[in-house]
Amino acid sequence: MPSTINLYDLSLDALTELLSGWGQPRFRAKQVWAWLYEKPVASFEAMTDLPGTLRERLTAEASLGVLTVSAERTSKDGTVKRLYELPDGQLIESVMMPYDDHRRTACISTQAGCAMGCTFCATGQMGFARHLTAAEIVEQAVHFAQILHAEGDRLSNIVLMGMGEPFHNYDASIEAVRRLMADLGIGARHITISTVGLVPQIRQFADEGLQVKLAISLHAATDDERGAMLPVNRRYPLADLMDACRYYIEKTGRRVTFEWALIAGKNDTPEQANMLGEMLTGMLAHVNLIPLNPTGGYDGRPSDPEAAKRFIALLEGYGVSATVRVRRGIDIDAGCGQLKSAVIRQQRAKTITIDDIP
Ligand code: SAH
Ligand code: SF4
Repeated sequence: MPSTINLYDLSLDALTELLSGWGQPRFRAKQVWAWLYEKPVASFEAMTDLPGTLRERLTAEASLGVLTVSAERTSKDGTVKRLYELPDGQLIESVMMPYDDHRRTACISTQAGCAMGCTFCATGQMGFARHLTAAEIVEQAVHFAQILHAEGDRLSNIVLMGMGEPFHNYDASIEAVRRLMADLGIGARHITISTVGLVPQIRQFADEGLQVKLAISLHAATDDERGAMLPVNRRYPLADLMDACRYYIEKTGRRVTFEWALIAGKNDTPEQANMLGEMLTGMLAHVNLIPLNPTGGYDGRPSDPEAAKRFIALLEGYGVSATVRVRRGIDIDAGCGQLKSAVIRQQRAKTITIDDIP
């Protein structure tokens, strides 16, 4: 097959140049661009205001991205999870969560696998394969935008909380965020980057001048506990991490969200809540509590709702706000890295079909 041009690799200028080279008037590039980002569609055939000859040439010589859907599941709560195969055979996941208040949030990956090795995380348990390019990151959001557009709806929010550590792939992640804003029209305040706590990159991000939200995966309030769960803590201990967070808040005036996966009897105790409260008191911060999603390689259990309530009440005593995030898509392995793990388990057992995915 002759190599095709991925239109999601091109800037508007590059697209204009390509189509001019094909003898098309200049306004055609703007038309195609609108189909790529403003009213995204999944095929060139659907670009109804283009001449038939151009649609045929685009179909023959260009592509709308490089991701191939390798599995897809839809949850009872409307969450859609996709496993994509990349051209080199790597697998990555993206999730779209519809909310009652009309938000449509895409959770996208920044790496195939992850090098950070957090013990409770399905992606961490897989290890690192490679960084994604900015185009591969953007394309995941584009596909959900296409699906929603076809339903007369639109993608409103994006979180970089899928597989991988965005700040380990800093340049591509930031370029992707800029493109999601400029090309796909997602407001900066509707984009969240979540990091395990890479201190130099948190400081660099504070200096970018972006209005994008920042979430930090904290999960424990002492270096011993955090280091046992998140190996990165041995490189960047809590004191350095908190200094970087304070620098971010000072520089941007924006609040930081701290992610905390509640694990029964481990980090949902009054001691941990009190230490966290002390650490965050007076800081422009919010704590997002997520009951642990059980994974094959980790034997912790999610906390019960009573423990979560007690945890929140203790934090309130320090003036620290906290909410429990509802777990979405729990019936379809929608947690980070979980669908890929499930598919790999199935593949080891036998050849899978989509119905085999739990
Ligand atoms: N690498 C980044 C972003 C991807 S992980 C980070 O770590 O922040 C997105 C979020 O899911 C993180 O807060 C991570 O700690 C959390 N997470 C990973 N595995 C989880 C699990 N099994 N249960 C609950 N949360 C989990
Ligand atoms: Fe990587 Fe985030 Fe999973 Fe840790 S929690 S292994 S940083 S994806």
